[in-house]
Amino acid sequence: MDQAFLATLLRSVNHGESKVSSETQASELYQRLQVRVGQTGPLETARDAVNSAMIRHWCDALEDHHPGYTDSDWAKASLHGDLVAPPAMLNAWLMRGLLPPQGTESQTEEGASGAYSDLDAAGYTSVVATNSEHEYDRYLRIGDLLQGRSRVEEVSDEKTTGLGVGHFVTTLTEYTNQSGESVGRMRFRILKFKPGTGRGMNQEGEGSTEVPLRPDPGISLETAFFWDGLEAGELRIQRCEECGVLQHPPMVRCPACGSYRFDYAVSSGRGRIYSHVEPVHPHFASFEPPYVVGLVELEEGTRLITNIVDLEPDQVEIGMPVELVVERRNSGRNLPFFRPVRPERRISTRRLDEVQVGDVLGPCPVPITATLIVASAIASRDYQDVHHDRELAVLRGSPDIFMNILSTSGLCARYVTDWAGPEALIRKLSIRLGAPNYPHDTMTFYGSVNSVSGDRVEVGLRGQNRLGPHVTGTVEVELPDRTQSD
Ligand code: ZN
Repeated sequence: MDQAFLATLLRSVNHGESKVSSETQASELYQRLQVRVGQTGPLETARDAVNSAMIRHWCDALEDHHPGYTDSDWAKASLHGDLVAPPAMLNAWLMRGLLPPQGTESQTEEGASGAYSDLDAAGYTSVVATNSEHEYDRYLRIGDLLQGRSRVEEVSDEKTTGLGVGHFVTTLTEYTNQSGESVGRMRFRILKFKPGTGRGMNQEGEGSTEVPLRPDPGISLETAFFWDGLEAGELRIQRCEECGVLQHPPMVRCPACGSYRFDYAVSSGRGRIYSHVEPVHPHFASFEPPYVVGLVELEEGTRLITNIVDLEPDQVEIGMPVELVVERRNSGRNLPFFRPVRPERRISTRRLDEVQVGDVLGPCPVPITATLIVASAIASRDYQDVHHDRELAVLRGSPDIFMNILSTSGLCARYVTDWAGPEALIRKLSIRLGAPNYPHDTMTFYGSVNSVSGDRVEVGLRGQNRLGPHVTGTVEVELPDRTQSD
């Protein structure tokens, strides 16, 4: 499948490329759906109180090392006062899980679940979440038992999107704890669509162009160990058996001592960008622009020519720490690529006077693996088959399983708290989804400070994968005041 085509297809969902079908708008279904607008569903109570097991599972899945979520001693001594739940888990506590709790099967269908049933019955059985907006009054603590009530805010008329014809349903859920205290709210928009009515996620795009594979390297007796290493997933550096000197590219004779005897060292895969260039002209068919050719200096001291990947060309900087990615990527054999390393998590919390509008958060790559998608979906209690069962995802018209919106929210929150520090409080998280996160991709976050107002800082962010923007949004954090000492 042509990936650029798919990206366009999915983007059109959010950009509202739509045409109103007049007969449908007037249809009985549309009238019935409009009756749902303003309806409030039943008060739902979480199956489990906020608990550390679910929190740890979430943090493991999303590799979120925020100490306030899992380190009790740290949390007690911090402004949090005790362990808190990751705020982006807000709606995970009320997710149904794999089986509906006993006694809820025959619940009257009011509000959102009624609208979803109406749509299911009319054949709009597929669902994709497009927007999520969280507001947090306070962080949840162990033992909080969440309750939530949802109201249907809006049901769109029938829209023709790249995924299929469907209706957007927007709901607002208010969350309280067991004593009725308001803890947060969520505005959520999904598209319920008829499978098979879109341009089709599995169809070849019109005008899709096949990119030929890169030419194979010439492999000699001296360089075979290097290419064999890549097939084994490691980057090998030629080492002189006599004097131990490392060199790259491999040579026939040691330039230091003249020996002809070599073995190799295995690189740690860490290094820094020594130099880089973005080739523009001439165009080579197997190198899709834009791309970056980098000279990376490895920790071991040798340098190699490579491509810097998962990073927009204008974000590449000399001295930037990078890590090895061994992949095929448009080649017949494994090649060594380099991408930026995940920025280090900030230990002490950023103060307001350290932040200015326009400040940039370093690019942060998130390798999208099947494990990440499945583990984070289950950690958020989202058992929709498209997030864990490849065969069923394909049957539903998707090329593979894809990440759920809660996991994306969690990753956005992680990106911002890693930058802001563990005592920064996330107050609002508002995201819009675009191209899905499928396995074997990498999403790279970019962010910058949009505004500083009072003690609130708004960060604008974007998570870009190889198909296009997966997520765009804003995160509002409250930072400790400048008058406080650290
Ligand atoms: Zn030597």
